[in-house]
Amino acid sequence: MSTYEEKIRFLAEHTYGSWRPQKGWKSPLFITKVDGAYFWDHKGNKYLDFTSQLICTNLGLTNKAISEAIKKQADEMPYISPGFVCEAKYQATKALLEVLPKNLTKIFYSTSGTEGIEAAFKITRQYKAPAYKIISRYRSYHGSTGASIAATGDPRRWFAEPVNKVPGVIYAPDPFCYRCPFGLDPDKCSLQCAEYVDYMIKMEGNVAAVLVEPIVGTNGRIVPPDGYMQRLREITRENDVLLIADEVMSGWFRAGKWFAVNIWGVEPDILVTAKGSTAAFAPLGITATTKEIAEHFEEKFFAHGHTYAAHPLVLAPVPAAIEEYKKLYESGHIDRVGSYLGKRLRELYDRHPCVGDVRGVGFFWAVEIVKNRETKKPFNTRKDKAEGKPLMVDKISAELMKRGVYLLGWITHFIVTPPLIITEEDVDFFMDAFDEALKIADAEVEAPQPYKGYWST
Ligand code: PLP
Repeated sequence: MSTYEEKIRFLAEHTYGSWRPQKGWKSPLFITKVDGAYFWDHKGNKYLDFTSQLICTNLGLTNKAISEAIKKQADEMPYISPGFVCEAKYQATKALLEVLPKNLTKIFYSTSGTEGIEAAFKITRQYKAPAYKIISRYRSYHGSTGASIAATGDPRRWFAEPVNKVPGVIYAPDPFCYRCPFGLDPDKCSLQCAEYVDYMIKMEGNVAAVLVEPIVGTNGRIVPPDGYMQRLREITRENDVLLIADEVMSGWFRAGKWFAVNIWGVEPDILVTAKGSTAAFAPLGITATTKEIAEHFEEKFFAHGHTYAAHPLVLAPVPAAIEEYKKLYESGHIDRVGSYLGKRLRELYDRHPCVGDVRGVGFFWAVEIVKNRETKKPFNTRKDKAEGKPLMVDKISAELMKRGVYLLGWITHFIVTPPLIITEEDVDFFMDAFDEALKIADAEVEAPQPYKGYWST
């Protein structure tokens, strides 16, 4: 009988870790138990999950109704070819059409966010041919394979480029007011970041779609300024270009609504989602399109598919998850705890000279740390991440683990995205631990400066 330490070593030797050099890496923990927003390691240590694992366990790590739905499906019909249909597909599709933006009427199912984006690319390029270019943005992540990594702006793309470059993607500037790429004041900028997309479309030619995370996820919980998404919708319509919303992370009440686009009443032509759609109980990717796009494929060949497209086991949890989201939202819990979380996070400015910006909405927050508030000099850069240098955010995350909190960081900021089920007491527990851990960065600021940055929300 192997010990947990031996199993960890075995798995380090025989399985790959994601997005890292493999040498010297092994999972620090063997997880033995999960319950709601908490998990336990092999040594019996308990952790409050304040990132929702990979920002996907929106309803916590356990939920009876959802797991029962999967068990029932496994007993009755674990698989049937996507060439047939079944009750699980019918119920999931009916439930989804109730909560998706109303203009989206036809769905392609896959098994990840990446595949959802790959499907969106193929649908777009078949629908808009000969136009083929996709405008994405620099601060973005859209997935790990071919087209989706090509559309990704963050440094994970750098590693794929030499061997796996999918042509036809260009990158627009981000609507990131704290670090405006145009150096403009958000009160007087006339949404230059949106207007520049109009310029790009007109100057490039052959643009088929603009692909955005309506609120940027991993790359910084960037909530665009008011009017940006509406203007992007106008620009794409005026130029006869599709608007694709990547809501893989921002959907499912992360941002306080079913989908982030609901905040601005914007209806995209294609919406891709995944993670929270099953609350991460099963790996589902969803690519939803308009009727106009669907009609195009009435006569034309829909050139896409997978063995596991519309897998019944993966679709079975969808209606149950949607019911759970509805209950949680209607009880007022999401609005109440989301605003409490935001209020507590904003207090961090006053206590920590390393905190440069706190931005977000609902359960979707970033705390960005800087060496110098005046110059906004970061502790680490994208290059540091790509070169595997030790990062300040990782030091702080490690300290938080010692204090019983799991919180991921990404280069310059923390991914504060807890499950929607947490309580105000959980927020307080997290804040006490975070306050202590942030002192590591406080000790390294160049010179404590008063906060002069921009409040994103
Ligand atoms: N799009 C966004 C916005 C994401 O955040 C992610 C993953 O984090 C993806 C796409 C890719 O999804 P997956 O990891 O399920 O392939």
